[in-house]
Amino acid sequence: MIAVLTTQPLGRTLDYRAPEGGCHLGAFVEVPLGPRKVLGVVWGPGQGDYERSKIRQAYRVLDAAPMREEMCLFLKRAAEYTLTPLPAMLRLATRAPGLGDPPSMRKIYRRGTGEPDKMTAARRKVLAALAEYGDLAFTLKELAEMADVGTSVVKGLVAQGAVVEEDSPRDLPFPRLDPSRPGKALTADQAAGAAQLTQAVRSERYGTTLLRGVTGSGKTEVYLEAVAAALTAGRQALVLLPEIALTAEFLTRVQERFGARPAEWHSGATMTERRRIFRMVGQGEAQLVIGARSALFLPYQNLGLIVVDEEHDTSYKQEEGVLYNARDMAVLRASICGAQVVLASATPSLESWANAQAGKYAKLELTSRFGAAVMPQMRAIDMRVESLPSNRWVSDVLHKEVEARMARGEQSMLFINRRGYAPITLCRACGHQIGCDHCDARMVEHRFLKRLVCHQCGESKPMPTVCPSCNAEDRLAAVGPGVERLAEEATELFPDARIAALSSDMYGSARALKAEIEDIAAGGADIIIGTQLVAKGHNFPNLTLVGVIDADLGLQGSDLRAAERTFQLMRQVAGRAGRAEKAGVALLQSYQPEHPVIRAILAGDEDEFWAAEARERKAAGVPPYGRMAGIILSGSDVAMVFDAGNQLARQDAPLRAIGAQVFGPAPAPIARVRGRHRVRMLVKAEKSAPLQEALARWVAQLRIKGDLRVAVDIDPQSF
Ligand code: ADP
Ligand code: ZN
Repeated sequence: MIAVLTTQPLGRTLDYRAPEGGCHLGAFVEVPLGPRKVLGVVWGPGQGDYERSKIRQAYRVLDAAPMREEMCLFLKRAAEYTLTPLPAMLRLATRAPGLGDPPSMRKIYRRGTGEPDKMTAARRKVLAALAEYGDLAFTLKELAEMADVGTSVVKGLVAQGAVVEEDSPRDLPFPRLDPSRPGKALTADQAAGAAQLTQAVRSERYGTTLLRGVTGSGKTEVYLEAVAAALTAGRQALVLLPEIALTAEFLTRVQERFGARPAEWHSGATMTERRRIFRMVGQGEAQLVIGARSALFLPYQNLGLIVVDEEHDTSYKQEEGVLYNARDMAVLRASICGAQVVLASATPSLESWANAQAGKYAKLELTSRFGAAVMPQMRAIDMRVESLPSNRWVSDVLHKEVEARMARGEQSMLFINRRGYAPITLCRACGHQIGCDHCDARMVEHRFLKRLVCHQCGESKPMPTVCPSCNAEDRLAAVGPGVERLAEEATELFPDARIAALSSDMYGSARALKAEIEDIAAGGADIIIGTQLVAKGHNFPNLTLVGVIDADLGLQGSDLRAAERTFQLMRQVAGRAGRAEKAGVALLQSYQPEHPVIRAILAGDEDEFWAAEARERKAAGVPPYGRMAGIILSGSDVAMVFDAGNQLARQDAPLRAIGAQVFGPAPAPIARVRGRHRVRMLVKAEKSAPLQEALARWVAQLRIKGDLRVAVDIDPQSF
């Protein structure tokens, strides 16, 4: 008899009779559950709490490598840490669609020797896509998607012999990466760092290193040497990147260093590709995986290194479903399988900084930019004396600086951390602001899409011409700036400039975005206008000026992490300027240039900033010097949700037992999402307190009524 953990939300494993032919611990199996067939993993011997005759038999063992013991342990610990039911955790590890289906015969497409009789733009795109991936082949759908053309274009090329169609019985193998190829000649600092990481990887033991270095100091070069060490030792490596837009440039660098492209795991990957990566990772065939946070849950056979690049990035925190921070889970996973972790950042999170200070993580610093590049000069533009006319956001000072760059043939970037055209749509007749029907949030006008979009739930509707409240015609006005509106202003201010506006929703595909970024890097734009999408990681060698339109934006509100976030974001954005030989300048438009955070950014004294932040957090007893958890209660009836919160607040004995405090219930930072009212409670405890156990006992007291849902968020992003 076997106990099977399924991905269904049940509180426990279920007993089955072993399938025909038996099965191993960790095997993926298909089992009957009521009238359905569900996926599960053999989790242990059966519990035997049913009569033998009533126990059903598992249907079959799936054709996938069994889950390794360390993976089971990882899921268990991750579930305990995040207070997530194990089935939900298992779901993260079985994201490959059709897992277990044997690779079937399928048609694949590669470049042929023939040339098309007539070259059209669409055909050229297909051939270019194939040329880019060298000798790899793709399915029809993948190829068409990659080239952004219809499948008939590919078929036309097949008829002409320019593309050949073949039957392929199995997953396409990944080309071998060659770690023995020579890397770039490293500077003394970089070489010392690489040696430290290489040695750590060779130890084949767990350890975490915080690799801190200003943008452009060569962190990537250094950790690629650690990757080389892992590959040389025959172990697998994983590099987590916060943004798909960053992968293009990174893949090129991997190709230069190791002679081939690695596996690329992200939500935009096709089904076939995901299934292929899942299997290849499990067989140890994929040596290096580049991916988004979910790549942590792939079934590595022999993982030796995890790099978390831009480790401070908030996108590592998954905010829906299972609430986890990929950075913390990377450390957990590595500690279980004896791997090294490298946390790389120019502006580490206070958490990692404190762990390095405390000696829990090794430290590695790169203090200067590579080559002639120097850190940009930072200056504030005092917006109080600029007195701009309404609906203008670029100050005269900034305007002149951009013109000066254009005259010298250099690039400028204007940064605003707001998507869309305008954050508020207001009726001038009645004062009504258009909000989302399902969320406690404003609808944001996206002129590019000609729609109003809710950034909470993604709901959108056509831009109305009549006020939904008072029916006045043509009185709706855009209030405040977004990236699209800034682009419009720039077009007026700089009529001769080539302007590239970059925002995630302006690009239909990661591919189109990648093409745009490459075009910009090659000099295809004078002015780059963007949201935080452009703040991260891209190398624009000719960019010498960064103008931050609203440096104060992140400082509003009562969030204790606001200072840290603004500091990181501003340093990251500024770091885009002057990455090659030319010196860079970053100008911060601010209405409060004497604010301590703005002053710290301008002074560029990171250690001073972190020390001051650390003092405040210590005094408040909040992370990383204390522990926090957020409890979000949600449901369609606001009174019912508040009642539940009040009930929990009264029954706080399990928390008092560990000396923890409860705050709330109070409306959550976003009080309504997708029609559900949300109430938040915050729990604060000493660093050493057994918070998870106490929380589990506390929340278990809640009687779930109606559609009430409870989500526990360990280490919430805002508090
Ligand atoms: P970071 O990851 O710290 O931002 P990168 O590794 O991206 O820095 O390096 C910044 C730029 O400098 C890149 O274009 C990189 O190729 C180049 N670079 C860094 N170190 C070297 C080196 N030792 N030799 C040649 N180029 C280097
Ligand atoms: Zn909404």
